[in-house]
Amino acid sequence: MIDHWEAALIDLRAQLSAENYDTWLAPLRYDHCDGKTLRLRIPNRFYADWIRTHYLDLLLESLRTHGAVDELDVTFVVDPSLADQEATNTTRNTAANSSKPASERREESADNDGANSSARDGSVEPAAQRISGMAPRPSSSSQAPGGHRPATNLNPKYRFESFVVGPSNQLAHAAAAAAASSPGTRYNPLFFYGGVGLGKTHLVNAIGHRVLQDRPDARILYVSAERFTNEFIWSLQNHRINDFRDRYRNNCDVLLMDDIQFLASREQTQEEFFHTFNALYHSDRQIVVSSDAYPQQIGRMEERLVSRFQWGMVADIQAPELDTRIAIVRKKAELEGIEIDAEVAQLLAQTVKSNVRELEGTLLQLAVKADLQKRPIDLQFARDALQAHRPAPNQLTTVEEIQRAVCEYFNIRMSDLKSHRRHRSVSHPRMVAMYLARQRLQTSYGELGERFGGKDHTTVMSAVRKIEGRIDSDDRELIDSLEAIERKLSRG
Ligand code: ADP
Ligand code: MG
Repeated sequence: MIDHWEAALIDLRAQLSAENYDTWLAPLRYDHCDGKTLRLRIPNRFYADWIRTHYLDLLLESLRTHGAVDELDVTFVVDPSLADQEATNTTRNTAANSSKPASERREESADNDGANSSARDGSVEPAAQRISGMAPRPSSSSQAPGGHRPATNLNPKYRFESFVVGPSNQLAHAAAAAAASSPGTRYNPLFFYGGVGLGKTHLVNAIGHRVLQDRPDARILYVSAERFTNEFIWSLQNHRINDFRDRYRNNCDVLLMDDIQFLASREQTQEEFFHTFNALYHSDRQIVVSSDAYPQQIGRMEERLVSRFQWGMVADIQAPELDTRIAIVRKKAELEGIEIDAEVAQLLAQTVKSNVRELEGTLLQLAVKADLQKRPIDLQFARDALQAHRPAPNQLTTVEEIQRAVCEYFNIRMSDLKSHRRHRSVSHPRMVAMYLARQRLQTSYGELGERFGGKDHTTVMSAVRKIEGRIDSDDRELIDSLEAIERKLSRG
């Protein structure tokens, strides 16, 4: 049966996104099977419900394909040590988990009424250790220094040790380190903002690892705002809201909430997060939030949340400059065991400027290519390979693209942008779009007027002047938003 389970996990890993697999399937531990009932150990009750509704059919189907009986029953037993303890370590030995006495476990049955008693003897086969050790996990590279991957959802790769500091992220890095060394005090909440692929998720995770290092008993929860939203909705629908609140408000010392912009326009989830925030904040627990925009620039976010985000520390992460990019390439190469010399690192960093994720991706592609061709990554090889990476020349932005990027950024509709409405929520984005179009494309004021729903050329002109004036007076918020939109545009 263990073989079926292992095979099913491999199937699911191929079918699910890495995030879903890592979050929901990887933490499961095979416990016992008598041929009719498969018992799995889970970190907390939440898993049982979530797996039942989302993955059970898939899991059963796959188990059947691999030879399990048709009417296999799956039950879950909560093994709190899975939550407290790291799910995998370098030796991938989870023996400690299986030593938990049966009396300390709560069992739930897959048919949701807890009545299934067929597999309650609590016995754990020795093989359970073996199978949990063999569960497919993100491979080799996940065994970063220490090699830990706690059941807190932290990504094992994203640590301070693997983060390269440069002028573009110095402040964010320092704030992260300070928050990690004394959570819940000065830098609370800590809010990061910056464009895609610039290291927000990395830093947020690094805080979690560092806190755990100093205080192994700390309860760290890393969650994307999207997952928070999904769990919240699901809890409401399934009458589990108390469990949900317990988890986020009472059983959490450090809440790491990634990509909060996902909550834009989601009023009910914002409300829930607001109360979560208050509960944690008022009991001095650390809250870290990341976003692709400055708090006030996140479209459709409740004012009281926006103001709370600014109670502590707000730090931005900019695109890294050349030297930092070079250092990042070298660091990644070292971590991945890729041999490249200084010239190649420089070439790569010069070629890929947009963001770190892309830089990293390009390095890995280069390594794969070299490996296939059994060649070292020397300068000539890198030059040839990178040729293909250069974007098609003259990928000129259009007015339309600028308008779209601005709408997306401010979370407004295109029809609003082109309307004659004067409310600041639309007039400000409109001026920004006019300014960007003029500045990037040198389109005439008259034509721009037409493209913005038939406005007079003087309207466009005064909009552009107004924005220029505010840039001159160093309006930080505006400058940040312009940079964020530029980044959106350069990503195409
Ligand atoms: P974001 O969350 O801002 O979109 P990520 O944190 O996911 O970005 O970073 C994208 C990739 O780039 C990750 O693999 C991350 O490790 C890497 N990265 C970003 N910034 C740095 C840095 N300063 N040093 C090392 N790696 C970095
Ligand atoms: Mg991220």
